[in-house]
Amino acid sequence: MSILVKDAWIVTQNSKREIKRGNVYIEENTIAEIGNVNVEAEHVIDGKDKILMPGLINTHAHVAMTNLRGMIDDVPLETFLERTFELDRQRDADALREGATLGIMEMLRTGTTTFVDFYYGEDIIASVAKEYGIRAYLGWAVLDEDKSTQKGNPVKNAESFIREFSSQPMIKPMVAPQGVYVCSEDTLLAARELAEKYDTLLTMHISETRKEVYEHRKKTGRRPVEYLADIEFLNPRLIGVHLVWLTLHEIRLLASHDVKVSHNPTSNMKLGNGGSMPLIEMLQHGILVTLGTDSAVTNNNLDMLELMKFASLLHKNERWDASVTHAQDILDFATVNAARALHLNAGSIEEGKIADLVLLDPWPNGLPLFKDNIISNIVYALNGLNVTHTIVNGKIVWKRS
Ligand SMILES: [Zn+2]
Repeated sequence: MSILVKDAWIVTQNSKREIKRGNVYIEENTIAEIGNVNVEAEHVIDGKDKILMPGLINTHAHVAMTNLRGMIDDVPLETFLERTFELDRQRDADALREGATLGIMEMLRTGTTTFVDFYYGEDIIASVAKEYGIRAYLGWAVLDEDKSTQKGNPVKNAESFIREFSSQPMIKPMVAPQGVYVCSEDTLLAARELAEKYDTLLTMHISETRKEVYEHRKKTGRRPVEYLADIEFLNPRLIGVHLVWLTLHEIRLLASHDVKVSHNPTSNMKLGNGGSMPLIEMLQHGILVTLGTDSAVTNNNLDMLELMKFASLLHKNERWDASVTHAQDILDFATVNAARALHLNAGSIEEGKIADLVLLDPWPNGLPLFKDNIISNIVYALNGLNVTHTIVNGKIVWKRS
């Protein structure tokens, strides 16, 4: 397949963060040429007065829960968890498939081209992802066998999943320890070993709530990140999720072990986690920050454009200072940073990169549009409904009719 997008504003996200105006030619799954290129293509898309940008990368989701949206709102976290487990226990493969279908369609509709998922039953999610053409990093949830609703041993289940799906180009299996509250040291180290054995990435919920931190300290004498450093779990493969309740010492530990971070501001606010992830200190310590929506139960949508706005506003408000976050940095979290965290040759529009792109029509909520306000409008004014085309791996997988 070949695609020519003509006369668009191109948000390249290259190393100079250039915004260009012109054409982009896509051949097979690669960005072949940018600029004044005018060649025959199977699909020609008029990009006039539109914004072409790298596809958004969501580094934390539970897509199979999308059909539970709106069912557990406005309750304290403990009640939320109780009801989630209760609902989860009653779910069969069809329910997971239905949730994943809805979630993946929503992501493509709102400009997400790659996502990291976290659940059991990732084989079902993989089949839906393949059907719809989204790029999927699928983390099989790992926890102690006696605390799991999975059939069999979760570490062994994760290994079977990795073996079955490791050779599929659009699916990347991962290992996903649920959290210190349900994972023993043995389980955590087995998860790390599994990731090393099959060369996959790891992802884990860490220090989401104050309760998690206090209870872990009561049990082990150490805060979760200190503990994870002590048992030699922290490593560069790990994408830590949430990381709301941290000390400066823990931030230094994350930085020195090159742990990547998925910031989930909307979920944290909706669940009333209190405080906020220490984003500014993380950036000062050179930690690679990415963004995640979390599930449709705690968000309640999977719109990365909306999420970017929340990510920025949360910290401005928290620090009483509008200058602590910048639209360009926030856009980097959702594109180039996430691509780096996933070792994916995407996240920017440059020749030779994988063609994961989205086209946005800024009318009417993103107008007026000038070169100097495009990044600001993407982060603060637009939302997923402005997306007109989503291109993944060189294929148009969604377009507005
Ligand atoms: Zn989560």
